[in-house]
Amino acid sequence: MTTARWVYAFEQGNGRDKMLLGGKGANLCEMTQIGIKVPPGFVVTTEACLAFLGDPERRLPEGLMDEVRRQMAALEKRTGKRFGGTEDPLLVSVRSGSAMSMPGMMDTILNLGLNADTLAGLIRHTGNARFGYDAYRRFIQLFGKVALGVPDALFDEEFESVKARVGARVDVALEADSLAQISERFLEVVARQTGRSFPADPYEQLEIAIQAVFNSWMGRRAIDYRREFGITPAMANGTAVNVCTMVFGNMGSDSATGVGFTRNPGTGENLMYGEYLVNAQGEDVVAGIRTPKPIAELEQEMPEMHAQLLELRERLEGHYHEVQDFEFTIERGTLYCLQTRNGKMNAAAMVRTSVEMHEEGLISRNHALARINPAQLEQMLFPRLDPAHQAQPLATGLPASPGAASGQVVFDADRAEELGRQGVQVLLLREETKPEDIHGFFAARGILTSRGGKTSHAAVVARGMGKPCVAGAEGIHVDTARRVAFVGTQVIKEGDTLTIDGSSGNVYRGVVPTVEPEFTDSLRTLLAWADDCARLKVRANADTPDDAERALRYGATGIGLCRTERMFNAPDRLPIVVDMIVAETPEDRAAALDRLLPIQRADFAGLFRTMAPRPVTIRLLDPPIHEFLPAERQLEDEIARLQDLRGAVRGLEVLADAARTEPDPRLPSTLRDMGDTRRLDAIIARKELVLAKARALREVNPMLGHRGVRLGITYPEIYRMQIRAVLEAVVECLREGLEIDPEIMVPQVCTVQELKLVHAQLEEVRREVEAEHGIAVPCRFGSMVEVVRACLRAESMAKVAEFFSFGTNDLTQAVFSFSREDAENKFLPMYNERGILQDNPFEVLDIKGAGRLMALAVGWGRSARPDLHVGICGEHGGHPASISFCHEIGLDYVSCSAPRVPIARLAAAQAALGDSGN
Ligand code: ADP
Ligand code: MG
Ligand code: MG
Repeated sequence: MTTARWVYAFEQGNGRDKMLLGGKGANLCEMTQIGIKVPPGFVVTTEACLAFLGDPERRLPEGLMDEVRRQMAALEKRTGKRFGGTEDPLLVSVRSGSAMSMPGMMDTILNLGLNADTLAGLIRHTGNARFGYDAYRRFIQLFGKVALGVPDALFDEEFESVKARVGARVDVALEADSLAQISERFLEVVARQTGRSFPADPYEQLEIAIQAVFNSWMGRRAIDYRREFGITPAMANGTAVNVCTMVFGNMGSDSATGVGFTRNPGTGENLMYGEYLVNAQGEDVVAGIRTPKPIAELEQEMPEMHAQLLELRERLEGHYHEVQDFEFTIERGTLYCLQTRNGKMNAAAMVRTSVEMHEEGLISRNHALARINPAQLEQMLFPRLDPAHQAQPLATGLPASPGAASGQVVFDADRAEELGRQGVQVLLLREETKPEDIHGFFAARGILTSRGGKTSHAAVVARGMGKPCVAGAEGIHVDTARRVAFVGTQVIKEGDTLTIDGSSGNVYRGVVPTVEPEFTDSLRTLLAWADDCARLKVRANADTPDDAERALRYGATGIGLCRTERMFNAPDRLPIVVDMIVAETPEDRAAALDRLLPIQRADFAGLFRTMAPRPVTIRLLDPPIHEFLPAERQLEDEIARLQDLRGAVRGLEVLADAARTEPDPRLPSTLRDMGDTRRLDAIIARKELVLAKARALREVNPMLGHRGVRLGITYPEIYRMQIRAVLEAVVECLREGLEIDPEIMVPQVCTVQELKLVHAQLEEVRREVEAEHGIAVPCRFGSMVEVVRACLRAESMAKVAEFFSFGTNDLTQAVFSFSREDAENKFLPMYNERGILQDNPFEVLDIKGAGRLMALAVGWGRSARPDLHVGICGEHGGHPASISFCHEIGLDYVSCSAPRVPIARLAAAQAALGDSGN
């Protein structure tokens, strides 16, 4: 039988083996071995923990305590103190620590090794009775609470009663005899609670403490924490125990304890940051019993120690090449480091330290890019709630579009526009939104709906615009007609101020302070490095020149998706679009399209100009056209009300007749006109026509219905108009001497025949436009790939299409046969909870299913056309793990909403770094 090795001295443990030694233990070993002053100690491994927990009787593995005794003997030799000795006793701390930092496990026990005899020795040796009893009562309480499970409150009661009796207001005012008394009472508490006297034998104390640490790994708090944060056994399995010689920051005014960051974790500034307390022990700093001082003051108070701390900081960063978060204690003028770990920082600090550490030569460029989690950049790109806020949410919905915004509530888009124009900051609150609300979106700072999911109209449009949105806040009941909403018994009136947080889904009353996004110089520098290193290009989804400008500011290299329907929704266009839809004859339709043509041409020319010379991909009309008509219910209501009005007006006719037949000077002459219902009749007739059309176009399953290219083929004049508008815009820009790169793509294609038809149309219009203007009109032609059949037919599709753009929102729905909204609202959360699906496939690309199909389609497509250009324009295009997959399967670009472009640029760089084995 080989004897497993359960224990490593700090001088021996492998600092890289966090799985075995835990993060704290590994770093204590590492620091010791590079010559940083750490109080001597040793680590009991996580393997010992697992062996202990695996034993049905929970016994420590054989030989473990022998190894511990040998280590303790070595500590005694090193320190010249004896564990359990009565001269100058050796005391230790017992600390837990697993591979992942994990609150919820056992608290640290300080001053272990004290009993009546060793205490006497400690007091004799230090000549400080107060110090001795203070250490003793702390130890009894910690050990009692942590290792023996005695409720903390029982200790606190005794403590307070002694404090009150001697009239001490603060702990430090307690004298030695009071502390002695407290210690006695604490021992009694333990005896009462556990039914046996407090263990006096130091080795027994140590053994119990080690077992308690191991047991805490399977404690409720720890298990819950691991589940909540998805910590698997592969990430952290068991906890180590660190046994560490005590050093005392509470030995007088030349002693202190504190915590530090090698750089400011809030800003990233290259300046040591931290707090300390003079004459205090370990946890006093975090416990908030006394207010600690900023570390800069140590320079005056203990200049020599401050200088040593600065040196420690250099050594830590020089060794770890990472910002460190460390603990230190000064015992009578000697500085000890008790812990170090990588500092947790906000996004701005991560970015700044990445750039500065590279410029200081501390880390490579690749490392500077790799150490930042791209998703964390979101903090810098959207306004967010001030992290210090204390507000309680009024209601909660789905986090549908990130960012935070405050504003006065309005209940309809017209009012939003009106107030917005006056410079009022408004929030649009609706049950749900419709395309005709679009001008309200433009005017509002954020959107809040009480119904609908993450793919509701509100969510999709808000994300596209980069505006915050909380959707489906079901606790809010909206009464649009009366311009009020209710949350339980609370009333929200028009003009009341709310704050929404589209990153959490919370809704607050009043203004919760927000922090504005910060596109800093450091971020610019970092992203420029990212672009150098990435192979994937990052484009943005943008529908208007304004969107495009913003996309450029975020560093987009082109527009990957321009949804032309967004342009149809503007209030000056929608009536024309409605005319086009309700047209009874091809001539009527052509007339409406003729009016739309110049408007669309101007839109496209604007986009091309803004983006020149970068590529712009314009998608032909996609949604079912009934989406542009008002809801049937709304039309019915309006018609009913207009008919009531007509009844009333007809009543007036009686009066008008009277005015005509019996001219009476008291009756105004205009009565005759008021009785005339012809205008009303016309309005009602129009509404009825629209209603009839809406009914005729109604579909059971509109998203799988008459939309995209199917619509384009049914009404060829619509696509023809759009194609012409694009090509004429191209001509316009070429005439201005601009270099542009236009692309047209077709949505919802499922067979190559569809593609061929639209392609023939493009070629025909191109010939016409070229003939009219006498110049060649370049424009590439491509296909959205968002239908399963299109993936399977990729090879023949690629013979017609010069590029593919994966529409992974629709493709995901098709691959799963899930309708997104129903899935997210009804069963996806349950599927995730039960592990049936790992993620929400609408947020995280389903690599195994949808992704596999994409990979196949890319391969088949390129077999027909080796230089086939391929991108992705679904929401996944802004998601880091999905981007990495897009890189792997050889896509040329990803396209996402403008504010996500920086996230995608960093993710694209990291994907490339992954290739080079970094
Ligand atoms: P946590 O993980 O909660 O920070 P630690 O094990 O780091 O727990 O310890 C808690 C506090 O006790 C820290 O302030 C630490 O510096 C202090 N501490 C731990 N061990 C010792 C020791 N041997 N000597 C002095 N202070 C210690
Ligand atoms: Mg600590
Ligand atoms: Mg689509």
